[in-house]
Amino acid sequence: MEYLPEFTLHRPTTIEDALAHADEGGRYLAGGTDLLVNTRRGIERPGAMVDLALVGELGGIEDTDKGGLRLGAGVRLEDIAGDARLGARYPAVAEAAAAVAGPTHRRAGTLGGNLCLDTRCLYYNQSEWWRSSNDFCLKHQGTVCHVAPKGSRCFAAYSGDVAPALLVSGAEVEIAGAEGRRRAPLGELWRDDGLDHLTLASGDLVVAVHLPAPIADLASGYEKARVRGSIDFPLAGVALSLALDDGVIHHLALALTGVNPSPRLVTGTEALIGNRLDDEAILALRDLARTQARPMRTTTIKPWYRRRVVGALTTRLARRLGA
Ligand SMILES: Cc1cc2nc3c(=O)[nH]c(=O)nc-3n(C[C@H](O)[C@H](O)[C@H](O)COP(=O)(O)OP(=O)(O)OC[C@H]3O[C@@H](n4cnc5c(N)ncnc54)[C@H](O)[C@@H]3O)c2cc1C
Ligand code: SF4
Repeated sequence: MEYLPEFTLHRPTTIEDALAHADEGGRYLAGGTDLLVNTRRGIERPGAMVDLALVGELGGIEDTDKGGLRLGAGVRLEDIAGDARLGARYPAVAEAAAAVAGPTHRRAGTLGGNLCLDTRCLYYNQSEWWRSSNDFCLKHQGTVCHVAPKGSRCFAAYSGDVAPALLVSGAEVEIAGAEGRRRAPLGELWRDDGLDHLTLASGDLVVAVHLPAPIADLASGYEKARVRGSIDFPLAGVALSLALDDGVIHHLALALTGVNPSPRLVTGTEALIGNRLDDEAILALRDLARTQARPMRTTTIKPWYRRRVVGALTTRLARRLGA
């Protein structure tokens, strides 16, 4: 890795000032655990960064008057993992935050940075000299995708842990930008494109995530597979939320990460509502997850294995939550 290049650091205290600095070309800097690594690899070359640490409105986990929670984008992952309300009402979110990287990353890394982190690929997350010796690639400075050389798409994988857990919890995202504030279903934050996976307009700032009040008897959880258990991105990650009424499914949501350019809710789960959570239903859920996971050769681990792992994690989670 190279030394950090020269850049101007702005330290605003309000959202308005942060937006103004971003409008002048500054890049938002939260915990820096993704952005600073990519800058030292020469992938990012921001002339200015906008440190979000002093923007008070981005902090805090607060109860809402509708029985839900508001998570500021600047909340540290360590605080999400340890929050008793999240642990009791949205365990998938707390489990996912606890599964990110290692303890020092969770102390620095924020929710907003986790949702907005760059997509990842074996041919991209490398030093400048490694990438240059490979003629770079389509995602940055090159013309060919080494994963799918005949195509014109980038398949770099979105590999944040917390997004799928928020998706199965029905989260909405609050964004501030040049046009003012807006709220949207969290899934609208991403598109299926490894080159440009965020739908944010230039300068848009993620302010908070809003969780609705959980329905009665809701159970949720998150499972991931990784190479190094103590500190690693998901090769595949699965979040599930489930509510049973006397063994019969009356709520079901499943989401994946690490296996597509964006995190995504698995479609087709509504067909299982009204069924008992028996082996047949669990296998049907597993097959839905497997067919909607599209891992490509973006890690050292083979895509077929990651697809099978998605199925295994789904089965394990369904059995755990069903019990
Ligand atoms: C060794 C290592 C292992 C890791 N393992 C994992 C892992 O297992 N799981 C995982 O999910 N992540 C992992 N990470 C990545 C990273 O630590 C986390 O995703 C972390 O949550 C990123 O948050 P941050 O605050 O540090 O983001 P930053 O690096 O500060 O920012 C990341 C991106 O988000 C943008 N951004 C930040 N905040 C906002 C905002 N409020 N609005 C709009 N844009 C914003 C930044 O401009 C930047 O583009 C790992 C990183 C390392 C170095
Ligand atoms: S999927 Fe292709 S274009 Fe995208 S980062 Fe990997 S090699 Fe580059």
